[in-house]
Amino acid sequence: MMNVPLNIALMLERAETFFPKKTVISRMKHGIVRHTYREIGERTRKLASALKQLGVQPGERVGTFAWNHHRHLEAYFAIPGIGAVLHTINIRLSPQHIAYIINHADDRVLLIDDDLLPLIEKVKDDIPSVKAFIIMTDESELPNTTLSPVYHYEELLKEGDARFSLVKDIDEHSPAGMCYTSATTGNPKGILYSHRAIVLHSMALGLADSAALSESDVAMPVVPMFHANAWGLPFAAAWFGTTLVMPGAAFTPQILAQMMEAEKVTLAAGVPTVWLGLLNELEKGTYDLSSVTRILCGGSAAPKGMIRAFEEKYRIPFIHAYGMTETSPLVVLSRLKSYQQHLSGDEKLDIRAKQGFLVPGVEMKVVGKDGDVEWNGAEMGELCLRGPWIADEYYNDERSKEAFRDGWLYTGDVVTVDEEGFIKIVDRTKDVIKSGGEWISSVDLENALMAHEAIFEAAVVAVPHPEWQERPIACVVVKEGKSVTKEELYDFLRPQFAKWWLPDDIVFMSEIPKTSVGKFLKLKLREQLRDYFANVQ
Ligand code: ADP
Repeated sequence: MMNVPLNIALMLERAETFFPKKTVISRMKHGIVRHTYREIGERTRKLASALKQLGVQPGERVGTFAWNHHRHLEAYFAIPGIGAVLHTINIRLSPQHIAYIINHADDRVLLIDDDLLPLIEKVKDDIPSVKAFIIMTDESELPNTTLSPVYHYEELLKEGDARFSLVKDIDEHSPAGMCYTSATTGNPKGILYSHRAIVLHSMALGLADSAALSESDVAMPVVPMFHANAWGLPFAAAWFGTTLVMPGAAFTPQILAQMMEAEKVTLAAGVPTVWLGLLNELEKGTYDLSSVTRILCGGSAAPKGMIRAFEEKYRIPFIHAYGMTETSPLVVLSRLKSYQQHLSGDEKLDIRAKQGFLVPGVEMKVVGKDGDVEWNGAEMGELCLRGPWIADEYYNDERSKEAFRDGWLYTGDVVTVDEEGFIKIVDRTKDVIKSGGEWISSVDLENALMAHEAIFEAAVVAVPHPEWQERPIACVVVKEGKSVTKEELYDFLRPQFAKWWLPDDIVFMSEIPKTSVGKFLKLKLREQLRDYFANVQ
């Protein structure tokens, strides 16, 4: 067979050649704008030529600091299209972490949305590697800024070459993209995505038993383009000729619902908090979302009640998926097998609320205390993954040694696997509570507590224990206008868990500390608890 290198430029070329009339719809400052893939192709080539003019060399990193819209999509193809590396920067990181990753990646040029300028201005003196700032704005004039030198995106495009040739004769293993994990401990860790990984991952998104992304879809990535490449959807969508709907800056659930209705979105992708917000909105307003054939949800566990509400009340099919920045991200997705269809509604929901089983192309093993765990839905172990779109190291980072061992990525996620191979995430390795040689899932306890009508949020963490090594402590936030006592919560938990699983204490709090992407910050919580216990003793 021919040894043809897999390459991102080929994906854009396919969109230009076969789908020049299909569109990318973006919510911009002054309203909705539409571009055909022909226009996107021309604009991408112009941007690529402009970046070359600015002196960007193959292999150098170009950062983006932007929402989901057509300009960001153009950068997705233009930067790898000159052999450089697209570094999508998470706009929600702290200024220290933003400066850290720009320096660590050694970004040469930054493309920045005008409304996000203040965040980069804050760190401008700490990012000496950046030689040019390109401002993405809908206004004809550049905004006032302390950054320098600055360029106007649209002005650069005016001088760009619409027929510029994107590089294709590039080693498929060379880096095309880069993303840092949001740090829960220490500094963020960088992942380099190769051309090959992005192409193969895109192909996996198109498989019928996976996300089944196709030309006939109207896809709305709500997941940010700065978070694991918006789950690879922008790349795959252009390749397949899929219409893209980009929700733009600071959207609300109402805006999402309106866009989904107006553009007849068929597939939308995002984290559970986005869908909880949409659900809330659907209860308030009247929307016709009958075009939606699936919502793809991952990033943290999708509550069963939410899946049920979407499917039973609004007839919107829901697919639970799992991945990490390190895994491009799609690796596991929850779809019933054909012979599971006869099960009762509740049984099916129980299975589909798990994260699912592997998409074709990746392999897993689950390592417990005594080696590979049994697939019985009960034994817990750490999920390890390998495959062509799984990272094999962190970029220039000592911490690679911990996560990448003997050809596997140790995900740090503790799972059970049922007889059918469906995994269920029960914890992070650093959060699982090791009590007397057994493991207690903090997530199971949290979910049980959050199912109580008076509880808004619950996080369970381990505290050191002289006899049992570790014991669970629950922290809860009570819903506004509700009240509940500790004893009532224990009465609620008791029938659901073995006695030794019950938390040693339940602490009431006004809020649970969270990461920049809304996950519980358990490290911080453990510190707070240490202070709390020091004060009560
Ligand atoms: P971070 O930067 O926080 O690591 P990622 O998006 O890479 O951001 O997070 C990956 C982690 O998110 C996984 O290791 C897992 O713990 C969690 N996660 C992702 N999807 C799911 C899911 N469907 N259910 C539960 N946890 C999930």
